[in-house]
Amino acid sequence: MEKKLICISCPIGCHLTAVRENDSEPWEISGNRCPRGELYAKSELTDPRRVVTATVRSNSTIMPRLPVRTSGPLPKRHIDALLNQLYAMEVEIPVKRGEILLANVENTGIDVIFSSDCNN
Ligand code: SF4
Repeated sequence: MEKKLICISCPIGCHLTAVRENDSEPWEISGNRCPRGELYAKSELTDPRRVVTATVRSNSTIMPRLPVRTSGPLPKRHIDALLNQLYAMEVEIPVKRGEILLANVENTGIDVIFSSDCNN
């Protein structure tokens, strides 16, 4: 079994090849210029994750949508539900950059935090 991936860990974007004989064997990764590529490929093949960025409605007069992001990469299987939850919310100002909006999303240990301050 062979899979092709592009490493997104840095702007170089190495083209990676992952090979294994069967489902019980570990993936062998090639094409990476540094160890981060192997880590990325193995994570992507077994437990793909992404940092999520979005906006939420607010009662601010100057920033009616406030930017938020996850505190780390979230398993992809939780992303759609999280976005639906965020798009249905309206938050009240003031908020501070780094302040937690949603804690421990789906018991992953990942929070949703505000990406900027907003006071009015
Ligand atoms: S393998 Fe290393 S050099 Fe290549 S894209 Fe990934 S992080 Fe960048």
